[in-house]
Amino acid sequence: MVDSKDYSIQPIKGTEADSKIVLLTIDDAPDQNALEMAKILKKMNAPAVFFVNVHFLSSDESKKVLKNIHEMGFAIGNHTMTHKNLK
Ligand SMILES: [Zn+2]
Repeated sequence: MVDSKDYSIQPIKGTEADSKIVLLTIDDAPDQNALEMAKILKKMNAPAVFFVNVHFLSSDESKKVLKNIHEMGFAIGNHTMTHKNLK
């Protein structure tokens, strides 16, 4: 779960969570290496979240890549429309 105070990732309370678990996130999908990363992670049976920048979805090919990643079972997240600096 995400701690609402500092946005750190914490084990879910009341579970036998393994302290050595990591959350894999891939930013800037479906940029050039996203599909290759998805194939490697799938082969390694490693779940991950692919965060998408909408400006990378301008071509039919990039939309196909994202659909492919989704169909491989990966979660998809929003990484802004334009990758604007949010500071
Ligand atoms: Zn990014």
